[in-house]
Amino acid sequence: MRVEVQLRVVSGDGEILCDDAEVLALDKRHDRLEAIGLSLAEGKDLLAGVQQYLIATQATAFVTERRCCAHCARPLRSKGRTSLTFRTPFGNVPLDSPRLHRCRCTDAAGPQTFSPLPALFTSHTAPELLYLESKWASLVSYGMTVDLLKDVLPIDARLNPKTVRNHLHRVAVRAEAALGDERPNFIDSCQADWRELPPPEGEIVVGIDGGYVRDWADKKDHFGVLVGKSLPRDRQDRYLGLVQSFDAKPKRRLWELLCSQGLQMNQTVTFLIDGGDDVRNLAAEMAPYAEHHLDWFHVTMRLTVLGQFATGLVNHDRNEGERIARDLLRIKRYLWHGNSRAGLLWAEGLVDELYGLEEDCAYPKLKAFIKTAEEFATYIRRNGEPT
Ligand SMILES: [Zn+2]
Repeated sequence: MRVEVQLRVVSGDGEILCDDAEVLALDKRHDRLEAIGLSLAEGKDLLAGVQQYLIATQATAFVTERRCCAHCARPLRSKGRTSLTFRTPFGNVPLDSPRLHRCRCTDAAGPQTFSPLPALFTSHTAPELLYLESKWASLVSYGMTVDLLKDVLPIDARLNPKTVRNHLHRVAVRAEAALGDERPNFIDSCQADWRELPPPEGEIVVGIDGGYVRDWADKKDHFGVLVGKSLPRDRQDRYLGLVQSFDAKPKRRLWELLCSQGLQMNQTVTFLIDGGDDVRNLAAEMAPYAEHHLDWFHVTMRLTVLGQFATGLVNHDRNEGERIARDLLRIKRYLWHGNSRAGLLWAEGLVDELYGLEEDCAYPKLKAFIKTAEEFATYIRRNGEPT
């Protein structure tokens, strides 16, 4: 069968702006599964065809409205034409851009001719193309972004990773410029104001974790990164990632993330943090009803190491080892139930116990055990304090 797709564009007052333009003509079979419906290539041709006619018609309508003088309505004389290309997710669209003489009824200073179209095409790349390029290039490589877009869209065949990279950077610079100032404290109202607020939507939980990434250029070097994930009850999760040594506005970035989740000053925000100073500082002074909890993963990681030392001690000195292992279990229970005060007391007691073993016990890893236990007690002490 033969399929012909034609396009007709009609203006608001019924005038036909583009009539029966042939967008696509296909000879389709109906005896094989692969032939049923539009193929990817045919779908891309269809979108590209509609886009060409639609944009050309829109550009013509825009120019037509500016062909007469806005003051005396006389038609403006033509002064040749140039061309411009509009890049869209559905292909590049070449356009004629006519140049017109200004009307003699105005004696305004400046050039005697002008082109109307640049006032419409303030950018030669469609915002949605920039959006798709930036979105995918932030998830996969620039090269894969190009391949992916070309797979599903009739995008310009010349699109290459370098162009995507340039576009992404341009979008990033714009997004950065739109970001407000950094502040040490984002709580700028008082309790009386919070009482006036409507009830918040629900609790927001934000997990923030720090880590190190190897420098791509200097393989021996590492730099610290912070990543976070916000989990509000009724909205989509949002993510945060930043390089602290480089970022001038880390708190503002977290603040904007919370605002995008509908944060209100009367809302409970729970921060699950890894206990590092950088993460604690980042999450501090964000909301009056914020709670900061140590992420259990990081507590249990340290407890596991202490447990391994205790097992070693059991093999060396059964009685002392089992006593220490019981203390560890007790610390774990207190911390699990949120009693950091008791957990800290017992952690400090553990350090004292281990020091007491120094004289008589020949466990070879005792010094390392003491050091790890001391670090653990410091960790609990710091994170038990209100931020
Ligand atoms: Zn005029």
